[in-house]
Amino acid sequence: MQTTPIQLQSYLCDQWQTGNGEVEELYNPSTENLIATTCTTGLDFDAAFDHARTVGGPALRAMTFAERGALLTKMAAVLHEKREYLLEVSRDCNGATRGDSKFDVDGATMTLSTYGRYGAKMGDQKFQVDGQASKIAANARHVGQHFRLPREGVAFHINAFNFPAWGAFEKIACAFLAGVPVVTKPSSTTALLTYEMIKIIVEADFLPKGTLSFIAGDSADAIENLQAQDVVAFTGSATTAAKLRQSTGVLHKSVRFNAEADSLNAAVLGPDVSVGNDIWYRFLNNVVTDITQKAGQKCTASRRIFVPEGLLEAVKEALVERLEGIVVGYPTDRDVDMGPVVSAKQLADVRSGIDALAEHGSILIGGSAPVNGKNAPEGKGYFVAPTVIVANDADSDIFHQREVFGPVTTILPYDGTVERALALVARGEGCLVSSLYTNDRKWLKEALLKAAVWNGRLFVVSAKVADSALTPSTVLANQNHGGPGRAGGGLELGGTRGLDLYTNLVAIQGDRALLGKLLGLTL
Ligand code: NAP
Repeated sequence: MQTTPIQLQSYLCDQWQTGNGEVEELYNPSTENLIATTCTTGLDFDAAFDHARTVGGPALRAMTFAERGALLTKMAAVLHEKREYLLEVSRDCNGATRGDSKFDVDGATMTLSTYGRYGAKMGDQKFQVDGQASKIAANARHVGQHFRLPREGVAFHINAFNFPAWGAFEKIACAFLAGVPVVTKPSSTTALLTYEMIKIIVEADFLPKGTLSFIAGDSADAIENLQAQDVVAFTGSATTAAKLRQSTGVLHKSVRFNAEADSLNAAVLGPDVSVGNDIWYRFLNNVVTDITQKAGQKCTASRRIFVPEGLLEAVKEALVERLEGIVVGYPTDRDVDMGPVVSAKQLADVRSGIDALAEHGSILIGGSAPVNGKNAPEGKGYFVAPTVIVANDADSDIFHQREVFGPVTTILPYDGTVERALALVARGEGCLVSSLYTNDRKWLKEALLKAAVWNGRLFVVSAKVADSALTPSTVLANQNHGGPGRAGGGLELGGTRGLDLYTNLVAIQGDRALLGKLLGLTL
């Protein structure tokens, strides 16, 4: 990795461009060394959006699903070729361990490949035929058929700092396959990794002009000038989502706005689980993974752990035993389990969050005190100890409202009843994912029905799947990613459902034979 800071450029109107003004500085979170600068002041975003609409959109819409899918497959291939380099960049810009870097970088290429395969299966069509034609009048020839056509605008993708690779490319995969060009904007904090990935794709020179643009950080008020066929896919905090929802295009022109926001995801341990059985170990492993993986900076991490009072002492003891062994430090060292959080701002935010939660509970392990990362320069780096707080009162609002976006979770004791556990889960007002650990079918059935409306995904660990290595926080391309209420109310991925955001649903009604002939379909 280079030692002189890189000056990030934006890729707009098929040209690399640099802003002219005050630069933003990006730091290595493990060493606090300056690694890059970026500036977007003065760049013409409106021209870039127009270029995408008028040059990129027609090019993608002229392609079949199979051809668009092939672009995604090629993107995955050129990125995968530079995998080792990208893992190093991820370490330096995210403070990610090798495992955490793979989670992000391989997550991006795997999602691109998956959507590439969907494209191949969808074949030679250029738009989607949705369901079957249905008779709408006494005359049997008079039918209605739903179609989904690519919107004739641009997709503006705004991403959070924690997944600069996967976050950008899972969105690009869906938009491209649908037939919509993209302007992608990472969080300034970790823009270096996205920049390097876009650079690899641009240098490989296989994308049609205008289909992919990149803003290296601050997009100023670009969102204000979006047009009726445009789409915004946002990932970040609920506060920013609320602000962007007020933008002119979203309010007055029905610009589609999809938000993936904060979420106080729940993990509920059922009262039937016994200490030492498979479900017990899977529960502990998953909780520890969610605290430590990416230093807890995952939107899908379990933040609220509901534990039956009878199992509380055993859970506390087992978590302390596991977390005591976690080594925090410079992320490439093989014996380091957890790196730093990504920025000084994030460090301050996490520490104040820990203090705020601790006012309503007791710290079981960890806390907000400064941490010297192993093999990191003395006194440098944004390190936090893995932290568990046990709530004094599971009803306190703070545990259901304050997301501490770091290696932090809370234990909330409950009486073991489904009613109490699920009433508390609902206090989060919408989660991306909640997990349920039980082998009691009656308890589970009731819990699933109650939890379903508050979650985008439910992850059930019963006896026969307890040995699976999958964690609830892993987002898969073929499963829904999104959640109601506080989680943003959005939907991403979920297989080809992920294309819905980028397409317009239309019911065309008329003579079955005539419509079929005109559209080249058998209706
Ligand atoms: P954030 O501060 O809300 O920023 C998110 C993105 O919005 C960044 O790219 C930011 O750009 C951009 N942004 C801010 N103001 C904007 C404006 N006026 N116009 C256009 N873009 C604007 O969130 P974050 O700190 O990056 O990420 C952490 C949060 O994201 C956590 O709350 C986490 O729960 C959430 N998250 C959710 C998911 C999910 O899938 N649900 C996934 C990951 C993270 P700059 O950085 O350049 O300011």
